[in-house]
Order: sequence, then structure tokens, then C-alpha cells
Amino acid sequence: MIKELQLGMLNNRWIETKSIVIYGFGVVARKCIGMLSQDFHIPYIIDNAPEKIGTVYNGIPVISQAEALMKEERLPIVIIGTIGVYKSISEMLSKAGLKEYEDYCLLDLFVAEWYWHNRKQVHLVEVHTTITTRCTLKCKNCNMFMPYYKKHIDITLENFKEDMDNLFRVADRIFSVGILGGEPIINKQLPEMILYLQENYGDRIGEISVITNGTILPDDRLIDVFKKCNVRVHISDYTSTVPYEKRLREFESIMADNDIEYRTNSSLVWCDFGFPDNSFNFNNVRNHMMECFPIFRGINDSKLYFCHVAWSAEKCGMYTLQEEDCFDIKKIDKFNEEQVKEFINYSLGGNEKWSLSLCKLCGGCGVDNKKYVKAGLQADAGER
Ligand code: SF4
Repeated sequence: MIKELQLGMLNNRWIETKSIVIYGFGVVARKCIGMLSQDFHIPYIIDNAPEKIGTVYNGIPVISQAEALMKEERLPIVIIGTIGVYKSISEMLSKAGLKEYEDYCLLDLFVAEWYWHNRKQVHLVEVHTTITTRCTLKCKNCNMFMPYYKKHIDITLENFKEDMDNLFRVADRIFSVGILGGEPIINKQLPEMILYLQENYGDRIGEISVITNGTILPDDRLIDVFKKCNVRVHISDYTSTVPYEKRLREFESIMADNDIEYRTNSSLVWCDFGFPDNSFNFNNVRNHMMECFPIFRGINDSKLYFCHVAWSAEKCGMYTLQEEDCFDIKKIDKFNEEQVKEFINYSLGGNEKWSLSLCKLCGGCGVDNKKYVKAGLQADAGER
């Protein structure tokens, strides 16, 4: 388990490198490789899945670990994926005699360290923002606790602009900015939000994505904006628990007919977070948080959340966060290096003494939570 990721952990070999190898050719890697290729030579990607070996992505060949380790030149290996993926790759590499932070490290740490040392820039991997807490579904185990809201929140275009302006005042580049809900298409200002993001910060974002359940068909205006801004649409498919196959297929057809890049995730695996009805009570909260280590940060109310779930836990009225649980971006002086470094270190999970208070109660998605549930199971009528 990673104990801590902080600036200063990588040596000069990492800071000075102009070439890297990517290990892990999954969804997250596809979000990042385009932008990474602008600054680094990537001679090959490592992945051990037979169907990926031998393929080429953006001109970069995908090869197996065995083939990579036979190469004479040992380049720094940047692992891209969830913390679970990182752990299993890390085990394979250490068995092969490679050392963590010398030979390989997690993408988040590498980009934080490299861009800060070389350019005094802040580089984040993935940030999500919630634009409505309303949803067309009522999932029992919604990890944003949407069924618990008594009074729903719709983020206005002005709120959204303020959040993005504050975020990009501090962050120089972000591989992926995700817009979600609830169901984000419910918010009628979604097209204007995407346009604002693209027009003002598009050159600093790898991809803008929208995460939807595919129950509401996009209108012509939204389709135009998706196309114009190259939005990648992630469709969470809950049809194994909710009967809306026809609608989902219609949604997919609209995406395909308009050449909008989309991906339907039909193999969602959810953990029961326990919170708030059957909360956990972890003793070592830091260890538990680092086992979970969400891949994305959250931005709402101009605050950066190490875990976006925490924002919603408070907003739905089931939890009160502590001041140090989130980072108020408005307070950062971009020209104060110590403050900016503190922000980067927070985004990496803070130091060993810090933990997000909600993690004591929340089961999360790490290997220490084995309570799996079927994704999208609906709450009974009257429940919540
Ligand atoms: S365990 Fe902590 S980090 Fe993981 S989802 Fe829950 S609150 Fe977020």
C-alpha cells in the first residue's frame, strides 16, 4: 500500500527525463497519453492483456512486460490506473527486481513532480464537478448519496464559471475534467458550461467528459456542443437492474450517428460504502483512505476535494466536514510557492498524518471493502 505521495519523493532521473514508458493501457491511460505525448517521448506502452499486446495507439506500440524488460535501455515507468491496478503492477515489477520511485511510480506523483520542478506548473490528473444532485434513477448505493437529498441542488452557470476560474487560476493543466450529477443532462445549462470550459481552458485540458446514465436523450443543442468541444461521453449502463435498454440504445445511436466519442460501461462494480445507514468504523483511517485513493479529485464551491464523495456527504445533510477535509482554492496565492506546493501535496493525498475524516465511516472502493453490491439497484418506493 502507498503510504504517502508528496513532492520531493522522485530523484533527478525522473525530473530530468524527456522519455517515459507508460504501464497500463486502460481507460485512464487513453485520457492522458495525448497530452503526455506533447512533452515526453513515449517509445512504448506496457500492458499484459493479450488483446492489447501488438496494437498501436497514437503511433505507440503496446508490448508485454516481458518484452519491455528485455530492452537494454531502462526508462522511467509511469503506471496509469486505479490504485488497485497500481498495486498489482507494482508487485510484478518488484518481483522483476525494479524499485518503486526509482524505476516506476504512479502517474499522479510523476506529473506533479515533473511539472512543478521543471515549469513551476500544477498538473492534475482528473477532476470532477457535480452540476446537479437530481437524477432520473434512485440507486440505493449511489456513491454520491443522491437519494438522501431532501432539497436538491442545481449548480448555476455562474457557480460553474466561478469554480472553473478558481480551479484554473491554480491548476495549469488537467488531463480530464468530468462533468457529472446526479444526471448531468437534467441541468439545462450543461451546453453553456461545456462551451465555457472549452473556450476558456480547452488548451489546458486533455479531455472534457460527461458521465451520464443514458436515460435522457441529448437535444440538438447539446449534441452540437458535444461535437464542437470533442466531449467524451461515458455512459453508465444500469440496464441489468433498471429496464431502459431501448432508451440506452437510442442514446448510443445518437452518439454514433454524430461521431461523438462515447463508451458504455456495462460491467460496473460497486462497493457498499455503508455510510450513512450502516457506517464502518475504521481504526487506521489513513491506511484505509490510501487503500481507496480515488482516481479523481472533486471541485465544487471553489474547493478541491481529495474525494468528491465528501462534498456530497455534507451537501445531502448526512455529514459535517472538518475544515482540513477540503482545500479552499480561493485562498491560494498562485505566486506563493509554499501555498501552491501545499495544494499539490493535498491533491496527492496529503502527508502521512492527514486523513479525510469521512474515511473513518465510509467503506470506499479499496481492497479492504469486500462488500460488493449490484450497480444501480433501485431503492423501493417510499425508501429515502
Ligand atoms: S473511503 Fe474515503 S476516499 Fe474512499 S470513497 Fe470513502 S470517503 Fe472517499
